[in-house]
Amino acid sequence: MIEIKTAEDFKACKGKDGYFIIADTTGRKLHSTRCVFVDIAHFSAKAIDNANKNGQYFFTDDFFEAREYPKVKKCEACRRFI
Ligand SMILES: [Zn+2]
Repeated sequence: MIEIKTAEDFKACKGKDGYFIIADTTGRKLHSTRCVFVDIAHFSAKAIDNANKNGQYFFTDDFFEAREYPKVKKCEACRRFI
């Protein structure tokens, strides 16, 4: 699992098969890379503009590693892809 810190990293990961974990003030959500909520605008607002105070983004291509992230929940919008 890697933490995504730049827009370039985000775009590279978004094009892969795998899973995003977004950890923010509302909790920890597991997303498919195809999820509509996983986009560059949200990433920029949460992880770049606020210098990670508002959220952290992680990427892995390993489903079991993603599921074992502490207290993670599947996103309601994209769970059918997970
Ligand atoms: Zn999602």
